[in-house]
Amino acid sequence: MQKVKKIPMRQCIGCRERKEKKNLIRMVRTPEGEVLADESGRKNGRGAYLCRDLRCLEKAVKSGALNRAFQINMSEEEIEQLKCQVENMNEKQ
Ligand SMILES: [Zn+2]
Repeated sequence: MQKVKKIPMRQCIGCRERKEKKNLIRMVRTPEGEVLADESGRKNGRGAYLCRDLRCLEKAVKSGALNRAFQINMSEEEIEQLKCQVENMNEKQ
């Protein structure tokens, strides 16, 4: 019998698709109430996952999934900052 490696899967809060964790970006709400793209994937706080696609971030904003996931109301400015973080992470790839 071949051992099947378990691949960690997470659901994107934008498109609601389940994908491999490594293909998603972890968002985290810090104890200070700030939402960041968590590059290490290990920051403390409430987390949610999104595809590396800005459209998924926009979907999550429009549907309210982002605010629901973090139980906050993000301002447009905060959302813009988050988009920049995602873009920066994508450029590094
Ligand atoms: Zn997605």
